[in-house]
Amino acid sequence: MKIDTICVQGGWTPACGEPRQVPIYQTTTFKYDTTQHMADLFDLKAPGYFYTRLANPTNDAVAKKIASLEGGVAAILTSSGQAANFFAVHNLCSAGDHVVCSAQIYGGTYNLFNVSLRKLGIEYTFVDPDASPATIQKAFRPNTKCVFGETVANPSGAVLDIEKFAKLAHRNGVPLIMDNTFPTPILCRPIEFGCDIVTHATTKYIDGHSSQVGGCIVDSGNFDWTKHADKFPGLVEPDASYHGLSYAKTFGKQAYIVKCTTHLMRDFGAIPSPFNAFLVNLGLESLHVRIRRHAESALKIAKWLKAQKKVAWVHFAGLPGDKYNRLVKKQFDGNSPCGVMTFGIKGGRAASIKFMDSLKVIGIVTHVADAWSCVLHPASHTHRQLTDEQLKAAGIPPDLIRLSVGLEDPEDLIADLRQALKSV
Ligand SMILES: *Cc1c(COP(=O)(O)O)cnc(C)c1O
Repeated sequence: MKIDTICVQGGWTPACGEPRQVPIYQTTTFKYDTTQHMADLFDLKAPGYFYTRLANPTNDAVAKKIASLEGGVAAILTSSGQAANFFAVHNLCSAGDHVVCSAQIYGGTYNLFNVSLRKLGIEYTFVDPDASPATIQKAFRPNTKCVFGETVANPSGAVLDIEKFAKLAHRNGVPLIMDNTFPTPILCRPIEFGCDIVTHATTKYIDGHSSQVGGCIVDSGNFDWTKHADKFPGLVEPDASYHGLSYAKTFGKQAYIVKCTTHLMRDFGAIPSPFNAFLVNLGLESLHVRIRRHAESALKIAKWLKAQKKVAWVHFAGLPGDKYNRLVKKQFDGNSPCGVMTFGIKGGRAASIKFMDSLKVIGIVTHVADAWSCVLHPASHTHRQLTDEQLKAAGIPPDLIRLSVGLEDPEDLIADLRQALKSV
């Protein structure tokens, strides 16, 4: 099936007389007739549901749809994008391990890695994603277990060269994990460029209506864990908490997601409610129509902003001449990467704040990437924990405004931007 059809019909195929919409299995548990049957489920010998923390049919149907959109073999839903990135890395790393990570990533992920996972003993080296392969190579250590980046960085808008990062990761015997939240699999599918594991905050465009917080991890099934058994004993060697089972030997290409479920979800429990999974699915059914409109309106507005005298700069990889435009053309469907851009107003931090406070149709909210247009000032909001030095490394000048273009008429949005510019 083509991608637009998967958005609508993927993951759930109703049999004759069954509900056409994915049913919400709002239940903690599932009933069985014999002790042995339940014992086989606990031993992972038989497939089946027994407790929603480990698996639920609603969640599974939605995960399956996202896996097929990304071109992966298996996926798991999580209760947030944060949980998805935490699990994606922690499924490969324990204390004493190391991660090579793009410096241009979402502020929440930066804190997760640089503060909380460091406390668990996982070390990070942050690299400039635009650096040469030879420079990035210097960040690798013998204990490096994965590479992490964002397809389109939130909020800086930097587009990652996926092939460059995938080649470096594979040369060092480790997988590449990409957070693909902003483009969604409709506009970019990182697995096609060599990425091994894809994560999402479904909170954003996939849901698209700011109705739930959720995440997803998709495995391409392409990374051969057994070839690098010394680096990934958790996936290859017998697991004592499952009677000596080896994930790679027993589950093959599904090993990474099975381990994520049976280990991390079992122990940390960041599951989404089946009702939230249902909402994610409603979003997915129109994602292909919505994201293209977001991207098209954003390109129109970026071009308009660029022509305004009071606007100091505009970063949007969809703009011809933007330094990431080449990567959009290479890696994306269409000529616009998503609906999010950044810009600054002449007069610096104070002028940008005055401008934002004058907007009427476009709201000031922490959210991004949904139907309602909104703005955020990262230096005062999401990234306020970062020092000026760290802000610079993350590509965030103090005057930066992040604009998320929604699904309103772009002419109304331009009119609002115009009247706010007059106030500056
Ligand atoms: C929002 C976001 C996250 C975190 O997702 P939550 O659902 O808010 O936990 C992770 N990565 C990116 C790129 C995001 O935009």
